[in-house]
Amino acid sequence: MIAENIKHVLNELPRGVELVAACKTRTPEEIREAVDAGVRILGENYVQEALTAFEVIGKKATWHFIGHLQKNKVKKAVEIFDMIQTVDSFEIAKEIDKRCRRISKIMPVLIEVNSGREKQKYGVFPEDTEGLIKEISGFRNIKIFGLMTMGPRFGDPEDSRPYFVKTRKVFEEIKQLVLPGVEMKYLSMGMTNAYKIAVEEGANIVRIGSKIFGKRDEKI
Ligand SMILES: *Cc1c(COP(=O)(O)O)cnc(C)c1O
Repeated sequence: MIAENIKHVLNELPRGVELVAACKTRTPEEIREAVDAGVRILGENYVQEALTAFEVIGKKATWHFIGHLQKNKVKKAVEIFDMIQTVDSFEIAKEIDKRCRRISKIMPVLIEVNSGREKQKYGVFPEDTEGLIKEISGFRNIKIFGLMTMGPRFGDPEDSRPYFVKTRKVFEEIKQLVLPGVEMKYLSMGMTNAYKIAVEEGANIVRIGSKIFGKRDEKI
């Protein structure tokens, strides 16, 4: 089932759009099945869950952190992740930089944009994104590669479109600035419900969970 779902998703994604399998709540066995079926990037929301899966799968896939990163988890996170998609504050960027310096690693990061300006969501507001990037682009052990957004959840995927458009606009504006040390290459938007719309609006990374692994029990 997982393999079939993945084949289906990979077939319909245009060339140049990367699939991240969103693995939260899935077992290492399910995740391994996804990797065997051709998934190359795994997205994890929780550091502990990722460590458990990493023991089974290791470097057979690339690991992206897509959850909210707490400062006290950064040390472990930088050891296994190949990209952190959810940087949204100076403080967390500084901690990632510090922990990466100690292990001589340069961490690719995306800035998480709270495109719906929702109170309960993480991410930096669209109008503050450029400022944050300028503040942290001098850190030598992180490298900014673009933006990520979730956007509000809707029943109708079309309702997500304005938030993808907004994030794309911010992305293009910052790209135009050609900031030193910043490479605006990736735009990570779209989950099971609206990833096709996200791709239409310029996403080149999509993060898909339920469509690959089936419905989750928990409401996360
Ligand atoms: C859970 C999650 C996804 C995938 O969501 P689905 O609706 O299951 O596809 C994508 N991105 C993030 C940040 C997530 O937490």
